[in-house]
Amino acid sequence: MTSFHTDVIVIGAGVSGLAAATEISRAGRSVRVVEARDRVGGRLWTIPSAHGPIEMGGQWISPNQDALLDLVGELGLETFSRYRAGKNVYLNSEGERVEYVGEVMPASAATVASIDRLTAELDRLAAEIDVDEPWAHQSAPAMDQLSFRDWLYSESDDAEARDNIALFVAAAMLTKQPSDFSLLQAVTLAASAGSFSNLVDADIVLDKRVVGGLHQVAQRLSDRLGSIVQLEERALEVRWTGRRATVATDRGEYSASAVLIAVPPNVVSKIGFDPALPAETAQAFAHLSMGNVIKVQAVYTESFWRAAGLSGTAFSPYEVVHEVYDNSSYLDSRGILVGFISDVDAARLQDLEPGKRRVEVLNSLTRYFGPLALDVIGFYESDWKSETLTDGAYGTSFDVGGLTAYGATLQPRVGPLRFGSSDLAGEGYLHVDGALRIGRSMASEVLEQLVHSEG
Ligand SMILES: Cc1cc2nc3c(=O)[nH]c(=O)nc-3n(C[C@H](O)[C@H](O)[C@H](O)COP(=O)(O)OP(=O)(O)OC[C@H]3O[C@@H](n4cnc5c(N)ncnc54)[C@H](O)[C@@H]3O)c2cc1C
Repeated sequence: MTSFHTDVIVIGAGVSGLAAATEISRAGRSVRVVEARDRVGGRLWTIPSAHGPIEMGGQWISPNQDALLDLVGELGLETFSRYRAGKNVYLNSEGERVEYVGEVMPASAATVASIDRLTAELDRLAAEIDVDEPWAHQSAPAMDQLSFRDWLYSESDDAEARDNIALFVAAAMLTKQPSDFSLLQAVTLAASAGSFSNLVDADIVLDKRVVGGLHQVAQRLSDRLGSIVQLEERALEVRWTGRRATVATDRGEYSASAVLIAVPPNVVSKIGFDPALPAETAQAFAHLSMGNVIKVQAVYTESFWRAAGLSGTAFSPYEVVHEVYDNSSYLDSRGILVGFISDVDAARLQDLEPGKRRVEVLNSLTRYFGPLALDVIGFYESDWKSETLTDGAYGTSFDVGGLTAYGATLQPRVGPLRFGSSDLAGEGYLHVDGALRIGRSMASEVLEQLVHSEG
């Protein structure tokens, strides 16, 4: 067992924790990062495979995520564009398969008009929201009491339009049912991405990938920090007073002037606190729950859809795999399709044995791309619900009424403790860009606090 003092302890070596530790170390302060897993990156994770690197977690970067893009450049990583040439595929409410090009959905004029109206209204609301305090909007209480589903019903009587807008926010982003979160939560998500139109535009949110995998951002930050980052060391308990804290791990004890808890809010309660966290902080975390999504990747000898003039992009609110993209590796002739299965569909598939789950997934891909989709040479699933240090994916969101009831009292600062992960970011919420921003902002607060306490 080791025991020593350092200026700052960071719990968690995801991008939030590593970004914070980088700034603290750059400022000449002593810092230690304890990471429970045997790898850094958290929700960024790439596995080497016979089919090349397979990204099991986060992977895409938007052009407006400049904090992340700048860091990718600084770390010497190369990016490439997601393949998107050719026709997209949509399966409509009648189960018909439609190929189309361009931005406009292949639906009736009435459905398209309704989607456009809903999009314009969500863009208008998102433009009014301050992502750092959405609860301060004058209509926040009303918007937070209304589930996103009920709002859609109140705004549109076109079922296919409602189903598609719900798909973009619920299944594709918060990975929950649209009745599980509020209009305010949906609009805050849109605002954090710049606008609702940005959020639903695959050419923006799924624009670039990093050659070899986005996890390298975390890996390279960690490499620069060297022995500051300790793997396979889990924080079990934090004992704190107004000005100091002690972190007990499964390998030792560290006292520090500040502790940054850079883990998703839903797993904070797996760490003991003595004294207990203030009730309003613990309650706020309890009202932030993870969504549920399974990411699946099917590998083929070649990208057969490209030869058929298809982009590999396909989606449907009525399919178990609700969205699919070409995810082939950089300069690799093998083809990879990535798909996502969310909320109730994910829960149902998680109960199946792996062979049956694979059959359901491949059948769904076949409905989009035809029988060649069955000819896989590799198949990968990432089920983040089974990862007990994350307990779901992509991230956490508030239940109906939670943002206004608990957002302002979330108090990510408690004495010498700071809490932060991409789940608590304003700009870049739920994304790696947000993890970077919140990590840096926690670091600058703590550095200021250290100067004050010495003054
Ligand atoms: C399938 C999937 C796809 C995604 N796609 C994208 C995408 O395309 N683009 C994008 O920008 N974002 C995407 N995301 C989201 C993105 O990956 C996350 O927002 C971001 O990586 C979160 O970083 P973080 O550091 O805040 O948290 P995390 O990455 O969750 O890091 C927290 C760390 O804390 C550790 N930890 C937890 N408890 C303890 C403890 N008690 N002691 C020590 N360590 C502990 C964990 O092991 C983990 O390493 C995706 C996520 C998933 C899961």
